[in-house]
Amino acid sequence: MSNPEPTPEAGRPVVLRNGTVLTMDDTCTVLEGADVLVVGDRIAAVGPALEVPEGTQEIDARGGIVMPGMIDTHRHMWQTAMRGYGADWTLTQYFVWYYLEHGRTFRPQDVAAGNRLAALEALEAGVTTTVDWSHGLQSVDHAEAAVEALRSVPGRFVLAYGNIQAAPWEWTADPAVRAFLERHRDAADDMLGLQLAFDVTGDPAFPEQAAFEVARELGLPVTTHAGVWGATNDDGIRLMHEHGFMTPETVYVHAATLTPDSYHRIAATGGSISVSTESEQSAGQGYPPTWQVRRHGIPVSLSMDTSVWWSADLFSAMRTTLGADRSREHFEAHLTGETVTHVALRARDVVQWATRGGATALGRDDLGSLQPGRKADVVLLRNDDSPVSFPVLNPFGHVAFQAQRGDVHTVLVDGRVVKHAHKLVGVDLAAVRREVESSVEHLRSSLGEETWAQGMNPDLPDAQMLDNPYQYTEYKSDSTRAAREEVFEEHLATER
Ligand SMILES: [Zn+2]
Repeated sequence: MSNPEPTPEAGRPVVLRNGTVLTMDDTCTVLEGADVLVVGDRIAAVGPALEVPEGTQEIDARGGIVMPGMIDTHRHMWQTAMRGYGADWTLTQYFVWYYLEHGRTFRPQDVAAGNRLAALEALEAGVTTTVDWSHGLQSVDHAEAAVEALRSVPGRFVLAYGNIQAAPWEWTADPAVRAFLERHRDAADDMLGLQLAFDVTGDPAFPEQAAFEVARELGLPVTTHAGVWGATNDDGIRLMHEHGFMTPETVYVHAATLTPDSYHRIAATGGSISVSTESEQSAGQGYPPTWQVRRHGIPVSLSMDTSVWWSADLFSAMRTTLGADRSREHFEAHLTGETVTHVALRARDVVQWATRGGATALGRDDLGSLQPGRKADVVLLRNDDSPVSFPVLNPFGHVAFQAQRGDVHTVLVDGRVVKHAHKLVGVDLAAVRREVESSVEHLRSSLGEETWAQGMNPDLPDAQMLDNPYQYTEYKSDSTRAAREEVFEEHLATER
């Protein structure tokens, strides 16, 4: 079905008409058959049959769901030119590849290529704000390239400045980095914010203190990978707490391999947790922690981590987070012979985490909800060609389990239509593709074909297949055959 609507022109008010509106206000009010009016960069009104100013452009939202733009609070955007390369990696292989062996191969233009692609990918999926957890900034030139790319895409971003090639107390002491941070902090607007990104190893000497002091001096929030199996743990949290660096604006990414003591400290100091469920499940930071942290009342936001494995798709984040939380709840209950009759985590909760939760993590109460006066970051899910688009009976369940990025019809950021009728507006994707291809070419030729292929296909250790006593048609040897027959006979005996 073609879309007869013209793409709205910039500078004029826009109204989305007759949708199911998930306001994500404090009580998560849902309005059926309602309109959302956008004037300038703000939501002007939400409600049925709104009167609109002359010249307002209409977008038909009938049969669709209108929701706030989603917010991803942790994504290593610079890695996006490596899309899918590490699909079969563990965290160990990721660390070896980026931290030890090949991270230094990335030039400023490679960071820019990854960031630009990641930024467009986010917008296209209805993710209107992304924290670029940019820990590949080996030099200020890399940082400038990262910012240039983010500024070239009409989304909202936060550059979380980091550098895995140096210790945090080293790079934060670099005068050039300080000058960059001061300049960009002063130039920060509500489209591009700034944070510091580094991890705390748990060294009792707490050398990270110097980096925290720089963050405090510059007035920048810190985001940190906490509770990552084999890398960061309770010691890091305790040291941060004892030295007074756990603050409400601190974002703890993963927070998976932690004990209740750390969760108490996070809850008591008002910080939030960024859960990357797809990442935790595959890479091994620890079990996705929502089943624990929700008991502590800690605010949660969602994130996708890196496109070297996954994508900027918060629909999959919502879905896997619900699955992991419920899976653990059932599992824990079954261990004690109990049955879960009512699941604790609801579809509405993960939609809240993907929108308002991100806004809370970033201290941006003007984002994450559709209420008059808030910033106009709006997503319309509508896909007339999809048999999955109707009926919409349970809107939160529909977003969490039925919808996907291909259903994102329209996206507004700061009142500007950046995607319409399933297409990004005014984007030269061919140019971005060339930039990314050239980056891949550089990385690939720097590594050499063999190293490149090995990196993508880590060797499997010899797998030991379990002997299966019921498979009696294929025998490896007489001894295993005899053993299997014995077990099989026993089994038959107990059956009789
Ligand atoms: Zn990460």
